[in-house]
Amino acid sequence: MDNLNNKDSTEAPAICTEYKGLVNSSNNCFRNSIIQSLFMTPEFKNLLYKCDVNYYSANMTIVQMKKLFLKLQDPSNETVEWKSNGRMKQGDAQEFFVNILKSFQEELKTICHFNFINIFQDLLTGQIINCIKCNVCKTEKLQEETFLDISLPIHHSRSTKVYTSLIDALKGFTEIEILDGDNQYFCNCCKKNCNAEKVLKFSELPYILTICLKRFKFNYQTTNYIKLSDEIQFPLEININSFKFKESSVKRKVKEGDSENLSHASNKYHLYVIIIHTGDYNGGHYYAFIKDFKTNQWLKFNDDSVTVTSMEHIIKISDGVKTTVKEIAKEIPYILMYRKTDDNKNENSLEFKEFPPHLKEFYNLLMKEEEKTAGRRNKRKRKS
Ligand SMILES: [Zn+2]
Repeated sequence: MDNLNNKDSTEAPAICTEYKGLVNSSNNCFRNSIIQSLFMTPEFKNLLYKCDVNYYSANMTIVQMKKLFLKLQDPSNETVEWKSNGRMKQGDAQEFFVNILKSFQEELKTICHFNFINIFQDLLTGQIINCIKCNVCKTEKLQEETFLDISLPIHHSRSTKVYTSLIDALKGFTEIEILDGDNQYFCNCCKKNCNAEKVLKFSELPYILTICLKRFKFNYQTTNYIKLSDEIQFPLEININSFKFKESSVKRKVKEGDSENLSHASNKYHLYVIIIHTGDYNGGHYYAFIKDFKTNQWLKFNDDSVTVTSMEHIIKISDGVKTTVKEIAKEIPYILMYRKTDDNKNENSLEFKEFPPHLKEFYNLLMKEEEKTAGRRNKRKRKS
């Protein structure tokens, strides 16, 4: 692992031998960047590994991911390919992130791992409250929504304003919107259209906070999607407290019980994944910069290549807080992942020697299958 810490060479990036790349066989870089990000999230990897599932349930996302992660962790494989069932077309990394986690969550329910469902929710799902307050009768209507990621607008929705930083975009996302004029709100108490205030706030935050910068926007004039390539600054550390729901009376109505815990919980996060999208809406390329928690080293996962990099190579920092990705060949940050700073919760990835018995068994079955496949491949080679 010492070779990971060599910082002397600035020209050719050093190959990272600790981690493996993923083959890009058919436009699946969008998928590879998400898989590597989840693989490098120790708490997610550990949850996946602890799920005791039948090896032969090949259609299950959990089984497919488990096989893939074990192959990525196995020292004998060079690069790894995910042969998932079903056709693959070029897709969007954010959509893939949400879809794969949704099917993961659904499968957890079917295999009745109640404990794991709770761990999953703490880890990856948050809650947003949408609150509308009638200006006449002052009645509040609250709606709670669950999220796996936040799709954050980087342009103001009702003006030409462009947010230049993540903090500004979050402020815009959670600012009070006045509903008046044509946009008035029908109040059920007043039984008429009234002026109202609408606001979105976070009521619960996940341990892993995933923010997708809304870079693809529908253009009504040209009737197609355009990419917003605006530079946006983002902090290495972020505190979400100011974007949280504070009104205790309201909170009690929404969620009975632990409102005290909620307000005192740590909401400090630090950045560990930056997924880059190059190109435009119709075609582009994804890769990821990910921090290895084991060594605190930043790595670049670009399909089958994994190279060592450094914070200084990836981003430019001004005044120590504001951060943007360096403009090398239009590297545009698209998805950012933050992990909660919490010594009691931060885990290390399970090593082989720590595998529970069911996982060892799963791994042995996988290695047998791999040997068989390799044998068949060699046979075919000899015949041709
Ligand atoms: Zn009213």
